[in-house]
Amino acid sequence: MKLHLPPRVSPKQFQSAMTAFAGIVGRAWVMDTDADRDAYADTYAPGSTEEWPAAAAVAPASVEEVRAIVRLANEHKVPLWPVARGKNLGYGTAAPRMEGTVVMDLGRMNKVLELDHTLAYCVVEPGVGFFDLYDQIQREEAPLWLSVPGNAWGSVLGNALEHGIGYTSYGLHARNLCGIEAVLPDGDLLRTGMGAMTDNPAWHLFPMSYGPTWDLAFSQSNLGIVTKAGVWLQPAPETSLEIVWDIPEVDDISWVIDTIAPLKISGLIDQNVFIPSWLGKMVLKGQRKDFWDKPSAIPEWRVAELLKQYKLGYWQVSLRLYGEETVVKARAEVVKGAMKRHLAAAPAEHWWRQGDPVGQYETTMGVPSAVPLQMSDWIGGRGAHMGFSPVVPATGKHVLDQMHRSRKIIDAFDVDFYASFTIGGRFANNVNMLMYDRDNAAEVFKMRKLFDALIVDTAKAGYAEYRTHLGWMDPVMETFDFNDHALRRFDEKVKSALDPNGIIAPGKQGVWPSNYADKRGSA
Ligand code: ADP
Repeated sequence: MKLHLPPRVSPKQFQSAMTAFAGIVGRAWVMDTDADRDAYADTYAPGSTEEWPAAAAVAPASVEEVRAIVRLANEHKVPLWPVARGKNLGYGTAAPRMEGTVVMDLGRMNKVLELDHTLAYCVVEPGVGFFDLYDQIQREEAPLWLSVPGNAWGSVLGNALEHGIGYTSYGLHARNLCGIEAVLPDGDLLRTGMGAMTDNPAWHLFPMSYGPTWDLAFSQSNLGIVTKAGVWLQPAPETSLEIVWDIPEVDDISWVIDTIAPLKISGLIDQNVFIPSWLGKMVLKGQRKDFWDKPSAIPEWRVAELLKQYKLGYWQVSLRLYGEETVVKARAEVVKGAMKRHLAAAPAEHWWRQGDPVGQYETTMGVPSAVPLQMSDWIGGRGAHMGFSPVVPATGKHVLDQMHRSRKIIDAFDVDFYASFTIGGRFANNVNMLMYDRDNAAEVFKMRKLFDALIVDTAKAGYAEYRTHLGWMDPVMETFDFNDHALRRFDEKVKSALDPNGIIAPGKQGVWPSNYADKRGSA
């Protein structure tokens, strides 16, 4: 990709910034050729990679190098886009929101700094991937489990900072963060919580600061570059029981939510319960053309045939309980009793006990895997996906209304309907998965229009997305409209005060520093 400069930076100024960066990290770690820019482009983007072009990438190896680069970036007015491993697939991968921003690749900072077997936490640098941490836990035979996202090839910190979701009792990943270290926009170094005291051993244990608590202010944020953080881990349970129900009808999702959510809220179920529609299972069985060879959305009569043929319900609930065996058994009886009031068929049950082998694809047991990514191949060609993901209250009525609303739009665009609801507590994350072929320009165009329509229509009903691709960060922020966008006004006031040169991740999540305010809404 050719060079796209940051706004108001001349080629000469840019070159002198690269030379200055090289003085810190070494020439090899300043990546500014056309091929380097390709490597940091969003090759998974719904559109051209040139829409979100990085000018270069720089890869520091230590906190001090991060600080030095940030200071130089201020001097040279060259903005930085920090990424942990840059695998944020469907949301922009490593690419920046504003053209010409330099990606700060933190992948070289990849140490597990602590793994505490007793108090069940780790301290990690941004470059530590889920697979790395999993391997270290196995190597040390630590009695700890991870919580992993569906596609777990990314970074533990990157995913938590982005509000990623997993399917264990520790599935709200941002909530597991405890005590972070961040380089601020002026190059200063901050430690939150008890870490604000030199060498306080409770840094990664007590989740609040003395005074305001800032940890989550660095999540989905452009206020700093997180260089390490504590992450709480699940103590490995003695046993675990998976209980699986196939739920026959599409509208059954209403009673399913009304049955499971109260048990989750009361604490009887502690896992994040993932409820995918049938297509979530089909994408693992083959490609779309194996089941329906027309370009139009799979019609209802064909869906009914497929469900029968593959013995699938419209939805599947595979719920997992963890803990001491007698307790798990007792809790299972309560859950099964509640479900039986609506569904006569007995669920399938699978026990796991300490010492038993763990399957390779056990997301609900914290085993990292990239298998769910197979959905990208559903359409064929250069397959890709995007998720439209509003948050809805965890009641049958809210969930059903939202499902009907998004389904109507997705049907109108003649696209296959694949939804999931993950009950995370008092709310559910509703992911509507949209799969397409990146090489098919008409399809990409259609997906973009569909995405726009989903955002607008859902906002009209009062709901919003929790995370989105670079291309929709402004429109989604726009939906948070209370009191003339008070949240955005506050975010931008803080951003501009802390970062007058707009050095860190301008435009992230629709938050623009005042010096780049003219870039809001830019492609
Ligand atoms: P992953 O490797 O898990 O896919 P990324 O590295 O792509 O995650 O990070 C996703 C997003 O999270 C980035 O685009 C960036 O906005 C934010 N992010 C990641 N790491 C950091 C960090 N260390 N400090 C601040 N923001 C970060």
